[in-house]
Amino acid sequence: MFKNHALIFYYHKINSYSFNALAGAIDADTDLADIPIGIAFTADELREQISEALENHSRAAAAFSIMTCQFEEAARLIRRLRGEYGGRLIILAGGPHVTARPQEVLRAGADIVFRGEAENSFPRVLKAIFQRTDCAAVQSADAPADLDRTFSFSPERGMFGPIEITRGCAFACRFCQTSQIFGVRLRHRSVEKIVRQAESLRSINRKVVRLLSPNAFSYGSPDGRKLNLDAIRGLLAALRESLSTDGRIIFAHFPSEARPEHITHDTLSLLDEFADNDEIVIGAQSGSQRMLDACGRAHTAQDVISAVARARKHGYKIIVDFMFGLPGENDADRRESLSVMKEIVDMGARIHPHIFAPLPQTAFANEPSGRILPFFLNAMDQFRERGAIYGSADGFAIIS
Ligand code: SF4
Repeated sequence: MFKNHALIFYYHKINSYSFNALAGAIDADTDLADIPIGIAFTADELREQISEALENHSRAAAAFSIMTCQFEEAARLIRRLRGEYGGRLIILAGGPHVTARPQEVLRAGADIVFRGEAENSFPRVLKAIFQRTDCAAVQSADAPADLDRTFSFSPERGMFGPIEITRGCAFACRFCQTSQIFGVRLRHRSVEKIVRQAESLRSINRKVVRLLSPNAFSYGSPDGRKLNLDAIRGLLAALRESLSTDGRIIFAHFPSEARPEHITHDTLSLLDEFADNDEIVIGAQSGSQRMLDACGRAHTAQDVISAVARARKHGYKIIVDFMFGLPGENDADRRESLSVMKEIVDMGARIHPHIFAPLPQTAFANEPSGRILPFFLNAMDQFRERGAIYGSADGFAIIS
């Protein structure tokens, strides 16, 4: 129906899951199933594809997903595209930064911006654009997407990645956008639909099935806090059964992580039985109880230490996320945090350091960006010498 129109995703690596989900939503819409989707990995590729699309199709749209750390660069590119193609190109934008500051992105030159989840609104708006029907410049998320009515990706279009099993997070930690964008009520994809997507990965010869969730062991939990071991077992067992022996299940690892209080003998035993990863990722963010409380983490520093000890007993390698420069962090907090890091590094864990960045819509949105003090840098250098840092060469990831 729309094969004479073109849609191009500016498919940056850190936005790929959002685009994968949009492609899944487009596939689920029978009217749009035949629309060609271009994937541009760089600004030059994007411009090339837009020029070609405008020559060969009646209408073309380019879609951006923008995190706060990408906004300046994305805005420059959008302005440039607007200058080069004028009104012939429709520019669409969504993602965390757009959700929080839609007007800013419209001012940069986008035609239509999407706030929140876009699996429902994006296909609808696309059809309206291509049928030249008016639609509002700011699209607010309508009903939260039903994960069983759409897909996490589109293997046929070459867009695939982790399978999202849960959306939303009950904890609303004060630095994190997840609960603001996706809500504090959890939605879980059904086992049947997850298995179906795992099988679609196998159809393109992908043997690794990664499960995506803000909090890995919250699967099936009605409130996201209390474990639902039966649901986790049901999911992992069904996946194991559907994958042949060479299929690999990766759970409680990047891009997901587990909360420390959910690392129990029971959850670890489920990993032992069904998953293939020998490493797990735990979110801690601080070793200072005062900072944990200030962030609303709802777990203790001791939970972090106990989680690492338990996971090590089950033979897992461990990566633990920590954040530096949290609002209000003082020397005593830093010392406490460092002492927890030392304790878990001595047990064999690696630290994944992040610098605090204030994100729009969060409770810490107006706080200053974090700084790394020499005190911490020295400690990180020592950890690095011991092979106990996970991450880039300079050691720090920026949260985005
Ligand atoms: S940091 Fe993790 S636990 Fe906290 S709100 Fe974000 S996703 Fe949820």
